[in-house]
Amino acid sequence: SAGHQARDMGYQVYCVGGFVRDILLGRSNLDVDLVVEGDGIKFARALAEKLDARVREHQKFRTAVIICADGRKIDVATARLEYYEHPAALPMVELSSIKMDLYRRDFSINALAVHLNPQNMGRLVDFFGGQRDLKDKVIRVLHSLSFVEDPTRIVRAIRFEQRFGFRIGAQTEKLIKNALELNIFHQLSGSRIFHELQMIFEEDTPLPCLIRMENYGLLKHIHPMLKLSSNVKNILTETEKVINWFQLLYLEEKIDKWILYMLGLLNHINEVQAGIIMQRFNFSQKKTRHIFSLRSQINSAMSSISAWHQDQGKLSSLYFILNPLPLEGLLFLMARVQKEELRKYVSHYITHLRDIQPQISGRDLKKMGLTPGPEFGRILKELKAAQIDGVACDRQEQKEWVRQ
Ligand code: ATP
Repeated sequence: SAGHQARDMGYQVYCVGGFVRDILLGRSNLDVDLVVEGDGIKFARALAEKLDARVREHQKFRTAVIICADGRKIDVATARLEYYEHPAALPMVELSSIKMDLYRRDFSINALAVHLNPQNMGRLVDFFGGQRDLKDKVIRVLHSLSFVEDPTRIVRAIRFEQRFGFRIGAQTEKLIKNALELNIFHQLSGSRIFHELQMIFEEDTPLPCLIRMENYGLLKHIHPMLKLSSNVKNILTETEKVINWFQLLYLEEKIDKWILYMLGLLNHINEVQAGIIMQRFNFSQKKTRHIFSLRSQINSAMSSISAWHQDQGKLSSLYFILNPLPLEGLLFLMARVQKEELRKYVSHYITHLRDIQPQISGRDLKKMGLTPGPEFGRILKELKAAQIDGVACDRQEQKEWVRQ
C-alpha cells in the first residue's frame, strides 16, 4: 500500500538500507526504512492514516516515523531533489534524488533500494555495486572520503564484516588506515564513539569485533589503556557465554549488555584510569557512578562467596551475599568467578533463590497478633532464610517457627 499511496500523490517511494540488504541475505529484519522522492512527511501522514497508525514527525530533517498498532515502526525519509553544477559548466544537472540519498550512505551493501511504486514494484535499485559486494561478501565504501566524513563508519564496517562473515575490501581497508593516521577519532565526540561501541555489544559475538578494532589500532585511539590483553579476552569470552546462558532462560527481564562488556573492558584498569575512559565516552555522572558501584559490589561479593564456600556456608547466607547485586552485577560475577562450582551457585541464585519469598507475609504476622514494626523485617528475613535452607518450608511450619 506504500507504493499505491506514493503513486496517488505523484511521488516515488523506495525501501532502502538494511532491510533490502537483509532480504537479499535471507536474514530477517523488522526495521523498514522508506525513502520518498517528494514530501516525506505528507506521505507518512497519508500512509499512517491508511494503516490506522500514528506518526511522529521531525520537520527539521523532513523525516517521520509511522508507529503501527502492533508496535512495528516504519521510518520515512525525504530524498530531496538536488541540483549539481556540471564540472564542464554545462547546464545544471538534476541527479535522481534516490541516487543522491543512497550515495550518502556508508557501504555499498547498505546502499541498495527496492522501488515500491506499482509500475516498478520490486525493481532493485543498485547504483554502487551493492549486489555484487553481497555476493562477494565485501564491505566497501562508496567514495574515498567516507571515513573522514564520518569516522564512526570504521566501527560500522567492522561490525557488519563480523556479523555477516564478510571482509573489508582492500581499498576500503587502506582508507581506514589513512583515516586513522589522520587521527580523526580525536575529533569524534565521546557519545558517538560509545554509541557505536554499544551497537557492537548488542551483536551476538562482540569479541571478534573488538579484536578487529584492536588490530586496526582503534581501541588505543579511543584510549591508550583500552587493551585486549589475554586476561581481558578471557573475561569477555566468559561474559559472552554468561549472556548467552541467560538469554536461553527466556526470562522477561532484559539486561543492559553494555554494562557487562564495560565491566569486562575495565576489569583490569584502576579506578582513576577507568574514570578517565568513561569521561572520554561522555558518560553521565549517574552512569559512571553505577559502573563504579557495581565494580565494588562485585569485588566484595567475590571475596564473600569464596569465604562462604570455604566455610561451607548455608544457602541462605549465599542469598544475602548476592541479594544486593543487580542482575548485570550477578551475571558479571558469574563470568568472573573461576571455580566452576561457585559459578553454579551464582547461577542457582539467579534461576531459583532470587525469587524465593516466605510463605507467610506481614499481614499474616499481624493476624497472628504481632505488632507491626522493625521487628517484622527481621522476622520475614529469617523466614526467608528458613525457607531457603529447607528448615521451614510450608505455611504451617513457618507459623510455628514464628510462635517459637
Ligand atoms: P542494523 O541491522 O544494524 O540495524 P542497518 O543497516 O539497518 O543495520 P542502521 O544503523 O539502522 O543500520 O542504519 C540504517 C541505514 O542508514 C543503513 O543501512 C545505512 O544505509 C544508513 N546509515 C546508517 N549509519 C550511517 C552512517 N554513519 N553513514 C552513512 N550511512 C549510514
